[in-house]
Amino acid sequence: MRESGQREVFCGLTSIVWLHRRMPDAFFLVVGSRTCAHLIQSAAGVMIFAEPRFGTAILGERDLAGLADANEELDRLVAQLLQRRPEIRTLFLVGSCPSEVIKLDLAKAAERLNRQHGGQVRVLNYSGSGIETTFTQGEDGALQALIPLMPKGEERQLLIVGTLADAVEDRLVGLFQRLGIERVVSLPPRRSTELPSVGPGTQLLLAQPFLSGTARALIDRGASLIRAPYPFGVEGSHAWMAAAAAAFGVAPERVAELLDPLVERGRRALAPLRQTLEGKRLFLLPDSQLEIPLARFLSRECGMELVEVGTPYLDRQVMAEELALLPAGTQISEGQHVENQLLRVRAQRPDLVVCGLGLANPLEAEGMATKWSIELVFSPIHGIDQAADLAELFARPLRRRAALSFA
Ligand code: SF4
Repeated sequence: MRESGQREVFCGLTSIVWLHRRMPDAFFLVVGSRTCAHLIQSAAGVMIFAEPRFGTAILGERDLAGLADANEELDRLVAQLLQRRPEIRTLFLVGSCPSEVIKLDLAKAAERLNRQHGGQVRVLNYSGSGIETTFTQGEDGALQALIPLMPKGEERQLLIVGTLADAVEDRLVGLFQRLGIERVVSLPPRRSTELPSVGPGTQLLLAQPFLSGTARALIDRGASLIRAPYPFGVEGSHAWMAAAAAAFGVAPERVAELLDPLVERGRRALAPLRQTLEGKRLFLLPDSQLEIPLARFLSRECGMELVEVGTPYLDRQVMAEELALLPAGTQISEGQHVENQLLRVRAQRPDLVVCGLGLANPLEAEGMATKWSIELVFSPIHGIDQAADLAELFARPLRRRAALSFA
């Protein structure tokens, strides 16, 4: 089902919250309004205790009336920032709804600023605007901005694409190396200036399902896409690793030898959580673009019943393996008409609704258990070892709701 209408999602600026942690030598300068500044401050509230690596160049009323002023102001602010923070190596100018509405050309601004400050810092731009985008697309935009800077390289390598928690990444890279894949690199890297190379020897493995623009741009640079489900749950993570192993010619026996004990342990850890989740009816509203892989995990490994699986966008190229694993007849909706979706939620009365923050409280007030989808992007949920933690994120609101009903 395709829907369009009013949407209830965070904008792409939100992705700065995890991207700035990943690349501590980068700075994200949002070119936006006071609303954008409030969003980014409250989404990343913990940063008030540290010198933050993001900020907002606030477009005032004067800027909104005249572009010349806005450009001058931006140049002045960037010069000030770089003087104060000489350690910044990559500066992202992040577009917003206001900068798009007044048609402030941030690509040109980045070119101009590169001429002024080249050598000290690289200035890039992408859009985090909430007009027609959802919050995970912010990462897709930021990674696409980095791709032209990746050097060309012929060597055979596995490129993991998508931000992972450092500890999870170390674990996965270690496993790939034990499988015999010697060269494993990541995008985004931990330092913004240490970009991996890309070329015909690069096999690209997506760690997140919302990076279709990045995948296409890397394929244009010669990389080949490894088609696999995403590394959520025991089954998905195993298939993800096995697909990479097959692309590098690793013998299936070696894969089994290394991964079978992990699969066994992962399944054992999942078993008690399955007891809470089994048979519960689940409705996923479109928000993070993780909905389809999560629905696959929750239905196949946790026994949940899928009422509806919403997704903001459906790119069949990067989602084909996931779609094939969903139970036959699963209702999938693409896009959002929030009023109609809420009517369906109320009619169905599912046991658990996965949705954005703005909808969670009203639905809780109506007696439904909810899970904030944004939490799934901030939590370390990738890999076989994390499957039980991932299931726990869904079991907790159900237990809480049960306790409240009992009280
Ligand atoms: S980019 Fe748009 S949606 Fe996001 S905070 Fe700014 S005004 Fe709001």
